Amino acid sequence: MPTWEPVNQRGLKMLKVENLEVRYGAITAVREVCLEVSVGEMVCLLGANGAGKTTTMLSIAGALKSTTGKITFNGRDITSFSPERVLREGIAMVPETREVFPDLTVRENLVLGGFIHRGDHRKNKAQMEEMLALFPVLRDRQDQQSGTLSGGEQQQLVIARAMMSQPRLLLLDEPSLGLAPTIVHHIYEFINKLRSTGLTILLVEQNANMALKHAERAYVLSLGRIARQGPAGEIATSSDLKALYLGS
Ligand code: ATP
Repeated sequence: MPTWEPVNQRGLKMLKVENLEVRYGAITAVREVCLEVSVGEMVCLLGANGAGKTTTMLSIAGALKSTTGKITFNGRDITSFSPERVLREGIAMVPETREVFPDLTVRENLVLGGFIHRGDHRKNKAQMEEMLALFPVLRDRQDQQSGTLSGGEQQQLVIARAMMSQPRLLLLDEPSLGLAPTIVHHIYEFINKLRSTGLTILLVEQNANMALKHAERAYVLSLGRIARQGPAGEIATSSDLKALYLGS
């Protein structure tokens, strides 16, 4: 399946989350969350620590089950799908934990990312070449053990590894976490390159300025609920963004 979407698909709803509620035991982490992402869009999900951003992403990826709500992807109800089935539908997630297999080389990590197409060597080889062309540092270090890469290089590797499944929607959780500003700038250049292939992205960020500069639309989560939503430019200039971050 191509990573790009035909031009006439742009603007169609790809992902729809309706009234999502997720609990951890007695704690309700998110409630009544509704959001949509259209084909070709980059949408960001903002909010303070503990607002429910990762919980929302993990639910979409099938890794957490909701108590209430519905998640639809390209018109199909994926609410009860396992993570692997969600991946096969075309949704890949890059978790904020940025975990590589440290003893494996860069290339071996990428091979693992293509496991859902393991019977299709041609497809995996073509995607590998595409990723190595897109991320030159990975091409140069393809035989290096991944555990020895810098933080910024590991971030590129986990993004490229997720792309090996050739997703139509990429869920990116805090790609700038713990990275120096110049490296963050670099990572966003790669994200923009991926976008130019037509990839649709849902991005979680604490770095609101960075996310709002690049995304088209934003949702702001506060204490587990969507408190604001709109075009990124409007959210960036909204007077209460800081207050929402403080959870007030
Ligand atoms: P951060 O920016 O710090 O990653 P977040 O917006 O992604 O925060 P979540 O990680 O989704 O927030 O957490 C939402 C709420 O759920 C928080 O109150 C958190 O303490 C709680 N929570 C998250 N994971 C668990 C868990 N495994 N068990 C219990 N509570 C959890």
